[in-house]
Amino acid sequence: MTNVEYLEISTNLTILKEQAIDWALSHGLVIRTNSNLSSTTVHAPISLFPSPFPKKEFEFALELQPIFNLLFHKLSRDHEFIEKIIGELTDVDDFLEKLYNIYITVRKEGVTQQISLGLHRSDYILHLAPNSTEAHIQQVEFNTISSSFSSLSALTSELHKYLLESTKYFDVSPTLKIDALPANEAMINLPKGIAKAHQLYGSESAVVLMVVQPAERNAFDQRWIDHKIHLMRKTLLEIQRDGELDKDTKALIIDNKEISVAYFRSGYSPKDHPTGKEWNARLLIERSKAIKCPTVAYQLVGAKKVQQVLAVPGVLERYISNPSDVTKLRSCFAGLYPLDSSPEGEAAAKLALEYPERFVMKPQREGGGNNIYTKDIPQALRRMTLLERSSYILMDLIQPPKMSNIVVREGEVIQGEMISELGIYGVFIGDNRDEGVVINELGGHLLRTKGRETNEGGVATGYSVIDSPLLI
Ligand code: ADP
Ligand code: MG
Ligand code: MG
Repeated sequence: MTNVEYLEISTNLTILKEQAIDWALSHGLVIRTNSNLSSTTVHAPISLFPSPFPKKEFEFALELQPIFNLLFHKLSRDHEFIEKIIGELTDVDDFLEKLYNIYITVRKEGVTQQISLGLHRSDYILHLAPNSTEAHIQQVEFNTISSSFSSLSALTSELHKYLLESTKYFDVSPTLKIDALPANEAMINLPKGIAKAHQLYGSESAVVLMVVQPAERNAFDQRWIDHKIHLMRKTLLEIQRDGELDKDTKALIIDNKEISVAYFRSGYSPKDHPTGKEWNARLLIERSKAIKCPTVAYQLVGAKKVQQVLAVPGVLERYISNPSDVTKLRSCFAGLYPLDSSPEGEAAAKLALEYPERFVMKPQREGGGNNIYTKDIPQALRRMTLLERSSYILMDLIQPPKMSNIVVREGEVIQGEMISELGIYGVFIGDNRDEGVVINELGGHLLRTKGRETNEGGVATGYSVIDSPLLI
C-alpha cells in the first residue's frame, strides 16, 4: 500500500489545523467537554487527512453488509441457537444472564411486536499476512446495539472534502483527489431507517424514544439523528419512572405519548444498569408493542461468543443458502477460539499462554476498554478460574500494514504511525409475520484511527479519532 506523505507538510499544519477545527465547530462536528449539560463543546477528535484504504477492500466490506444483516436477523430468530450459545454463558456472565432472562420472560409471555429494526455496524481492520504484499479486511466485531458516530463520521467525510477543496491539502500527494473520497450517507440513512420503522408502527401521533445514557458527552452525534423525527430522549431510570404499558394493547406510554420505536443508545453495558430499576425499564420496553432497535434477541446474538461460534465450520451454512456468500463472509474472519472447558478451549488457552503476542482475549462486553491484549494474556489466564475463562473468547490479533497520519484532539496535533478501523453501517427491518425482509440496506461508513501503539479502539473512550477513507 502506498502511503501519502502527510508528514512533509508540517509547515502548513497550523493553517490546516485551524481550518479543520473551525469547520468542525461551525458544522456540529463536536462533543461536550464534560458530561455537564451546560458545558461548552469542543471539536470531535479528528484526523486532518483521510487515511489511505484499498478501494477493493472498502467495496468488499460494503458487499458483505447485507449478507451480515440478514445473517444476524436469522440468528436473532433462532431460539435453539440462542438457548444453546447464550444459555450456556449465563452461568459465567451476570450481564448476559439478566438480558437472557428478559428474552425468556418475554418469549413466554408472547412477543407483541413482529417488526424489528437493526442499525448495525460491522467493524474491520486491514490485515497484512506475513510474507504477503496485499492487505485484506478482517472483521473485528459485529455491533447490533448502540452503534455510534454515524453522524460525526459523515461530517468528517465532509470536513476532509472541504479541506481538500479549499487548501488542495497543499498538494502533498497526487492520490489526494476528491473522487477518492467516497460519499458517506450515514447521517441520512440511519434516521431514514428509524423513520421507516416509525411509519410501519402505524400511529401518526406516536413518537420515537431514544434510550440515552445520563450525561452523554457524545450527544451531538445523536442529535443529528432526531432531525425530522419527533423524538423523545430518556434514560432507563426515567423510563422506569415515567413509562407504563397500555393493559389492552401493550403500547408503551411515556409522558402520555405512545412510543413507536425504542432506539437504544444505552443498555449495552452493566454500567448502564446500576440498579434493578434500569433492568425494569428494559423489561418494560421489551414487553411493549414498540418496535425495538435492537430487540433483546438481537443484542444477545451480537455477543462476541456468537462471532466465535459463527467461525466454526458448518455454522454459517445453516443460515446462508448461497455458498459464495458463505465464502465471502468466511474470508474476513480472523482466527476465533473458545476458552471454555472443551478440548478446543483447552488447546486455545495453551496456545495463548505459549504465544500471547498473537492474540487478544475478549469478554462478552461492548463499549470498549474490556479486552486483554498480548503480553497481558498469560497473567490473566493464570489468575482466572476455568469458569471465568469460559466467559471470554480468544482471537487472532489483526496486523495492519504501516500507515501514518496526523490527528487533532482538543486542539493538540499528534503525528505518527496509525491503525484504522473501518465500520460499515447496516439498516435492516424485518417482519416476522411472513419472514419478510422489509429493508436490508447499507447505512454508510465510519473510519476510526488510533496510534499504532494503542491496543483499544473507540472514539468516546478517548483512544481513536474520527477519520475518513481515501480510496487507493
Ligand atoms: P468493543 O465491543 O468493546 O468495541 P471490540 O471487539 O471492537 O470490542 O474491541 C475493541 C478494540 O480492540 C477494537 O476497536 C480494536 O481496536 C481492538 N481489537 C479488537 N479485536 C482485535 C483484533 N482481533 N486484532 C486487533 N485489534 C483488535
Ligand atoms: Mg468495537
Ligand atoms: Mg462492540
